[in-house]
Amino acid sequence: MDLKELMKESGIVGDGGAGFPSYAKLAEGADTLVVNGCECEPLLYTDYTILKRELPMVLHGIRAVMEYCKLGRALLAVKEHTAKRLGFTEGQRLADGVYARVLGNTYPAGDEITLIYEATGRLVRPGNLPLTKGVIVYNVETMYNLARAMKYGESVTTKWLTVGGDIDRPVVLRVPIGTLVRDIFERLGITVDEAHSVIEGGPSMGKIINHETAEICKTTKAILVLPNDVRAVESKLINERAAVKRAETACCQCTRCTDMCPRFLLGYPLEPHKMVRTAMSVADATPDLVLTATLCCGCGICENLACSQGISPRAVINNYKALLGKNKMKFIGKDEVFARYEREYRKIPSEKWAATLGVAKYDRVAEYIGEINDFDRVELPLGRFIGAPSMPVVRDGEEVRIGQIVAVARDGLSVSLAASINGRVTVSDTEIMIDRV
Ligand code: SF4
Ligand code: SF4
Repeated sequence: MDLKELMKESGIVGDGGAGFPSYAKLAEGADTLVVNGCECEPLLYTDYTILKRELPMVLHGIRAVMEYCKLGRALLAVKEHTAKRLGFTEGQRLADGVYARVLGNTYPAGDEITLIYEATGRLVRPGNLPLTKGVIVYNVETMYNLARAMKYGESVTTKWLTVGGDIDRPVVLRVPIGTLVRDIFERLGITVDEAHSVIEGGPSMGKIINHETAEICKTTKAILVLPNDVRAVESKLINERAAVKRAETACCQCTRCTDMCPRFLLGYPLEPHKMVRTAMSVADATPDLVLTATLCCGCGICENLACSQGISPRAVINNYKALLGKNKMKFIGKDEVFARYEREYRKIPSEKWAATLGVAKYDRVAEYIGEINDFDRVELPLGRFIGAPSMPVVRDGEEVRIGQIVAVARDGLSVSLAASINGRVTVSDTEIMIDRV
């Protein structure tokens, strides 16, 4: 089967982030593949574990993409501390045309635009695709999933994830897609009291979830249990309206949020202090300025580190992003941009970032405990990735086997969905539930 078709049929989407269907990135015009193993945020050990245990599979996936797109080189990008643990050195040849690229221990190294710049020296024009600079970017787990699809004909049915934070022992494990978070917690003996919140994703960019109802989807990289009084959680607990209200009254326009913004430092026309100004004076909200909100990568530096007034420029920007998203509007720059000279001096060391978020003391290397796959129920979301939700092809009460396609890709950007356990299905508008029989 054609590689593009295989990726689509196998249900491969970006592992982490918004879940962009991976097949859609396979295009002509690139010369370099950058594989993201940076694990930007503290407490996450998912990609590290995959690289440690499954490097040959990851390299198999990388080589397949290189051959399909006729790419001359691939750079497997990891941070220094991960490289040290894996025994990688800068420029080390890992396979034919595949080299290790060791990046500094700074935040946010895993942001796609930052990653491309750090790994290749190329700076993508604001709002443009990496392909415009000859680069395709995939995550480590995506390459692993591709290799499994090629070698064994397997669709994506399991997810690697870190379970960490304020718990006895952080772990990395594999579970079926759709496993309920509460079932994982029960199996690991984790209880969550009222003084803690559960976050899906990293401490800064992740979101608070209801662990009683949430399930693991294809983009889940981590589930963290964190105290409500650490900075990372406090800033999420303030609701968006309150955050915007605070911005309206307390901002002194010191510009520190802009001075530290990684996208601004890359030369992008994103100035969070001006966004906050629009909350104080609607007259400042010009269409050109508002459009630049889509250039924000959501790193949270402005909110958690830069601002001393407790203001969240990120919340103001998120408001605009939601509005622009609904109207399918985004900033697309025509001109080249250049990183600002001060960028080198304003990088944030990973340790400082972990301390700022209040999570440094929970950062212990997570141990891999293998696959747990005997859960009685999974809830497979039909969406939760960019593009059209998969279309169910099974009926209520039908029995399915693991790996069987239960929903197919729709026209346009979309992927298929496979059963992650054996059982009987219940189909709704948003998910396919499977109960083991
Ligand atoms: S750092 Fe805070 S006070 Fe300063 S401009 Fe930004 S939002 Fe306003
Ligand atoms: S979250 Fe703040 S610091 Fe990060 S990119 Fe967006 S505006 Fe810049």
